Amino acid sequence: MIDYCKFCGSSDLSQVEATERMFGIGGEFTYQDCGSCGSLQIAEIPEDLSPYYSDQYYSLQKLVYSPPLRNFLKQLRMRLFLATGSKRFEPSFGYWLKKLKPKFTDRIADVGCGNGQLLYELSVSGFKNLRGFDPFIPKDQIISNSLSLLKKGIEEADEMFDVIMLHHSFEHMPDPDVILKACYNKLNPGGKLLIRTPVTNSQVWKEEGTFWVQLDAPRHLIIPSTQGFKKASEACGFQLEDVVFDSDGFQFWGTELYKMGIPLNPELAKGKFSKETLDEFHKKALRYNQEGKGDQVCFYLTKPA
Ligand SMILES: [Zn+2]
Repeated sequence: MIDYCKFCGSSDLSQVEATERMFGIGGEFTYQDCGSCGSLQIAEIPEDLSPYYSDQYYSLQKLVYSPPLRNFLKQLRMRLFLATGSKRFEPSFGYWLKKLKPKFTDRIADVGCGNGQLLYELSVSGFKNLRGFDPFIPKDQIISNSLSLLKKGIEEADEMFDVIMLHHSFEHMPDPDVILKACYNKLNPGGKLLIRTPVTNSQVWKEEGTFWVQLDAPRHLIIPSTQGFKKASEACGFQLEDVVFDSDGFQFWGTELYKMGIPLNPELAKGKFSKETLDEFHKKALRYNQEGKGDQVCFYLTKPA
């Protein structure tokens, strides 16, 4: 068992027992809660995690292609969005592009790309150099001239990038230090790293403990606090430019389902919440984000030039 916090190095760890709830498989998993920075980590990584990533797992679903006319409009929209930053043109898949401001010619990597849907959306929106990395996809795949998906980790990449992003894949990795260093090594000087992940700053975590839907035992191996993440990323040479909370109503309704003993299954969740309740959850999430107590963030980092 590890005896230090993987984010800040403190040995002030207390234990928390959590159970698998997304599919209702059950089982007990010990997490370590850092008394110094508040980050969480699983105490022992299960030898075989595959039973916890069934075919229903969202990121392993089939890529959906869109028709040429639709893609033309997506490109137009992206150009307007990057030029104006206007909410009117914001793509549903990427409000964070506004701050990241990639160029169409930038070399962009998505680490933990799953089926590559996000990269596909970027490619049909005009981005020219896109690579997906994911050791858990079935095989390498060339989607188009501008986009390929590779069955490997970013540390094995044979090219350098201007932008690397991790959209809710960071927390599935065993060691923050290893992935941060790998990203650092594959970024050009001045390059940008975007990490979107749950954080333990979450008020829901504080109030509801292991019912918190984004604890997601045992799939989430590490969940930083913003403080712990800052320390770990700066130790790897990154500059942490900004932290933006972007949690949504899921933190409330997902957690409520778990408290009712219901897994995350649309059929079973049907009718459990009224439209009014869901609207309330949405508003509460916006408030939590402003107050810095939502349950997920975007970390924007740069590798100094
Ligand atoms: Zn810590």
